Amino acid sequence: MKMDENRQSLLRRIPGVDKILETAYREPFFEGIPKSVLLHSIRTVFDRLRNDILENKESPDPVQVTDTWVLDQVKTSVFRAMTPNLRRVVNATGIVVHTNLGRSLLSRESISNLMDLAGHYSNLEFNLSQGRRGSRYSAVEDLLCELTGAESAMVVNNNAGAVFLCLETLASGKSVVISRGQLVEIGGSFRIPDVMAKSGAILKEVGTTNRTHFQDYEKAIEHNTGLLLKVHTSNYSIVGFKAEVFLEDLVTLGKRYRIPVMEDLGSGTLIDFSKYGWIKEPTVQESINAGVDVVTFSGDKLLGGPQAGIILGRKFHIDRIKSNPLTRALRIDKLTLGALESTLRHYRDPEKAVLQIPTLRMLTRPLGEIQSQAEALAEKLNQMEGGRVRARVVDLASKAGGGSLPLLELPSKCVSVAVEGKSENDIELFMRTAEPPVIGRIENDRFVMDLRTVQDEDLTWIEKAFAGLLLN
Ligand SMILES: *Cc1c(COP(=O)(O)O)cnc(C)c1O
Repeated sequence: MKMDENRQSLLRRIPGVDKILETAYREPFFEGIPKSVLLHSIRTVFDRLRNDILENKESPDPVQVTDTWVLDQVKTSVFRAMTPNLRRVVNATGIVVHTNLGRSLLSRESISNLMDLAGHYSNLEFNLSQGRRGSRYSAVEDLLCELTGAESAMVVNNNAGAVFLCLETLASGKSVVISRGQLVEIGGSFRIPDVMAKSGAILKEVGTTNRTHFQDYEKAIEHNTGLLLKVHTSNYSIVGFKAEVFLEDLVTLGKRYRIPVMEDLGSGTLIDFSKYGWIKEPTVQESINAGVDVVTFSGDKLLGGPQAGIILGRKFHIDRIKSNPLTRALRIDKLTLGALESTLRHYRDPEKAVLQIPTLRMLTRPLGEIQSQAEALAEKLNQMEGGRVRARVVDLASKAGGGSLPLLELPSKCVSVAVEGKSENDIELFMRTAEPPVIGRIENDRFVMDLRTVQDEDLTWIEKAFAGLLLN
């Protein structure tokens, strides 16, 4: 009975919408805030409050339900509504191509080209020398051919789209021969067998999970075979008793039976990473040299550009793909195209590209440089007021990410932090919801930040976030 009275009196204390609105308009905080946002925030706060009271939650404390308290809640809600949902974060995970955090960062040149194109008209589909309609792909087509030795090139929205478009064009209604070891799932429900089914191609799987031989492919060829497909198993690795057929040999087989050969390279790199003592990742140039008819790869994985799907290969096939009506539905946007062109231009000088393209720079960062950055950050954190933060530099490994180089462990330097009075989960949550959010990880019961993926300008944000945590 007493409870009910309490509830009733609490509910009665919720002020009217009009009253709060009127108070809000007198506060400078709400200046310039659209009325729709303010009203929505007030209603959200009231709804939550009513629910809390009816469901008998312990909060709010009855004495708290004052106009000022309600207004503070509204301020928080308005602030959230006015902050863009999609925003920058500090990537302290050490995963360079982090699909959840936006994969690749663009180079300075790409960003400036993109800004120029965004605010001005462009020759997107206009041939300036001939004064008539031109092709959207011409901005990058010659460049891609120059860099890779391919006969012809085109680009679409992403690599998933590229694979689908190629299968639909080259093999709809026909069978596609592929090794059982390459029927991969990329994540986000992109599975080779499902994509193939949607494209109208008929899956003809050969060999076994760990071993597939030349004869397996050859035996599977029949009158209706439309394509021999190789998928680079970029996000997992089979070790031990294994065998796969080289692309060169598939090309030989394809020539013998006049069947095109396609390769989905996934991350697709233009630079041979074995130079850096890493595990060998096949390059795009190697696929072209092997004589592949069509090869596809992502723009924003190891290439380090914007989200895009790049298709290279023989002109005969690329022309067919270009004239597929689906191409329009998978069309690349002009801003992406501009950023992609700038990214590709860097590759004319591979030594410089490694320094200019952020993804490549982070992957090849000297350990000493990461260490100095980590030491400087640890020192700053240790000097924070009250001495409540204990930070130290630890050796951990970073990953390439983005489903590339799955076995690669790049030695890195991390800052491991403990804060008096806070659990590692408290720290992780506070940092993740800071402004801008700082995404780290928990390892050995400690909040850990891998400095490989942290930009210099991020360091002050990390310090500010910790200062906020100490006030909390
Ligand atoms: C990542 C990947 C894809 C999909 O590429 P997106 O650019 O993410 O669409 C397709 N195939 C392979 C082998 C991949 O690694």
